[in-house]
Amino acid sequence: MLDAQNVSKAFGRFRAVADADFAVDQGEIIGLIGPNGAGKSTLFNCLAGDMVPNAGRIIFDGADVTRASAEAHARVGIGRTFQVPTTFEDMSVLDNVMVGAFLRHPHRDDAREQARRIVELTGLKPDQRARSLGTPGRKRLEIARVLATDPRLLLLDESLAGLTPGELQDAIALVRRLHEMGITIVIVEHIMEVIMTLTKRVVVFNQGHVIASGTPEEVVADERVIEAYLGR
Ligand code: ADP
Ligand code: MG
Repeated sequence: MLDAQNVSKAFGRFRAVADADFAVDQGEIIGLIGPNGAGKSTLFNCLAGDMVPNAGRIIFDGADVTRASAEAHARVGIGRTFQVPTTFEDMSVLDNVMVGAFLRHPHRDDAREQARRIVELTGLKPDQRARSLGTPGRKRLEIARVLATDPRLLLLDESLAGLTPGELQDAIALVRRLHEMGITIVIVEHIMEVIMTLTKRVVVFNQGHVIASGTPEEVVADERVIEAYLGR
C-alpha cells in the first residue's frame, strides 16, 4: 500500500530522517516506536505531505506522492493525527469534525451527516466546545477529524498518550474498531502495552531510520533496540 524508499528530511545540516525505508501492507496495524527525537513525527510529516523530503520516494497505491500537498495526500486516503492536537478551540466538536468531512462532501448537509456519524463512532458529544475538552477528548477529536476525511491509511502520532488506564482501554478499543472497519494503521506510541495489544509488527526507528522490525516480542528483546533506548 505504502512504500517509502530512502527517504531523508534535513533541518539545516541535521538529518532528522536519514535514508529511511518504510513499507506498509494493506490491512496491517503497525507499531512505530523509537526514542524521543528518533524522527518518527518527521517521517509522518513526509508520509502525509506536511513536509517534502529532501531525497527518496514515497509511493502510495502505485502512485508517486513524494511531492504532493497534504490535501492531495488526504484525497488519496492518507490521514494523520498530530502529536499536539490542532483543534479549532472556539468551535463545537461537530464543527471541528465537519472541517475534515468537507474534503469528501462539498455539500454542507452531507458533511454534517458524515461528521455526526464519526462523532458518534468516537464517543464524543457533538455540541461541546473544543476548548472545554480535556486531554482524552482532544485526542479523540483529533482522531475524529482525520476519520472524517475517510482515510484508508491512518497515521496515529501518540494519539493515546496522556490517558488514564481506563481511558486508555477505551482508546485501544476504538483503534481496534477502526482497524476492523478496514483502515490500515501505523501507530506511534511510547506505551508498550498499546503496541503489544494492538500490533503484530513493530518497526523501530532511531536516528532517522529503521534499526529493527519484527513482532513486538522480537523487537523488545533485540539488542539494537535496547541500546537505542539506553542511548548507547
Ligand atoms: P520523534 O517524533 O521521533 O520524537 P521528531 O521527528 O519530532 O522525533 O524529531 C526528530 C529530530 O528533528 C529532533 O531532533 C527534532 O528536534 C528535529 N526537528 C523536528 N522538527 C523540526 C523542525 N521543524 N525544525 C528543526 N528541527 C526539527
Ligand atoms: Mg514525535
